[in-house]
Amino acid sequence: MECSALYCIRIGYIVTPHFSHRGELLMTHTSIEKKSAIVTGASRGIGRAVARRLARDGFAVVVNYAGNATKAEEVVAEIESAGGQAIAVQADVANAADVERLFKETIETFGGVNVVVNCAGIMPLSPLAGGDLELFDKVIATNLRGTFLVLAQAARQVSTGGRIIAFSSSVIAKAFPTYGPYIASKAGVEGLVRVLANELHGRDITVNAVAPGPVATELFLTGKTEAQIEQLRKQPPLERLGQPEDISNVVSFLAGPDGSWVNGQILRANGGFA
Ligand code: NDP
Repeated sequence: MECSALYCIRIGYIVTPHFSHRGELLMTHTSIEKKSAIVTGASRGIGRAVARRLARDGFAVVVNYAGNATKAEEVVAEIESAGGQAIAVQADVANAADVERLFKETIETFGGVNVVVNCAGIMPLSPLAGGDLELFDKVIATNLRGTFLVLAQAARQVSTGGRIIAFSSSVIAKAFPTYGPYIASKAGVEGLVRVLANELHGRDITVNAVAPGPVATELFLTGKTEAQIEQLRKQPPLERLGQPEDISNVVSFLAGPDGSWVNGQILRANGGFA
């Protein structure tokens, strides 16, 4: 695994047996170094699948959560029992001091940050005519201010060759009634991603967003009737809801070697929903 000595932790050695020209058995010790990834909102839903996938891809993972410590510790335990490395860190992405601490703890534990995936998000729905300013402010704080704070720290801390991945939504293209605050927040996220990709000129760091269509998580299912879910299930030509793993596959691609030429893009993973 290639990585900068400054920003990697050593996790062990590969012992490779081979024979000398005289036929003696020799053992070569090659040190392995592990990259680290912060995944916000990793206690549940898509973030949880992303944390598990990046751990499987070989990253040491920081499992961030807002309030659900038990769920976050479950993700850590699952990763560890599969032979991976992870820690859980509580931090509200809308809080600047929390986000700063999230990055500090990551660097203290794993020696640096190679990949940042900002999955944390909320989606309460409300029509504009209701004028629910409290709801609007909450959505903007978590989804847009949260992305701003995480991207700002990522811009400072992610090492050369790193990846920054934010979360938008394919629902932007649909402009469904009641999605106003949510769509406004995600449109802002797409703007921030494109600007940051340009600001990191020459740093060899990619910045992209993934924009899923409907994925069967609490965020999508909560508050919807069976009929509403069924109607949305049938919208993509593939006629099913996305699963968290459909999205973690895409994040894995962007975070891994095959995604190195994708930069400043919004990747719409949605079964053809939009
Ligand atoms: P879930 O509701 O399943 O999970 C949300 C996660 O975000 C939880 O881990 C939660 O932590 C965390 N979280 C919420 N608020 C904060 C906060 N202020 N600070 C830190 N963490 C927070 O959501 P999904 O997995 O469905 O959504 C993940 C992302 O994907 C979101 O950005 C969403 O907008 C986007 N998306 C989802 C779609 C879908 O259909 N599901 C479609 C398009 C986009 P805790 O458990 O501690 O509460």
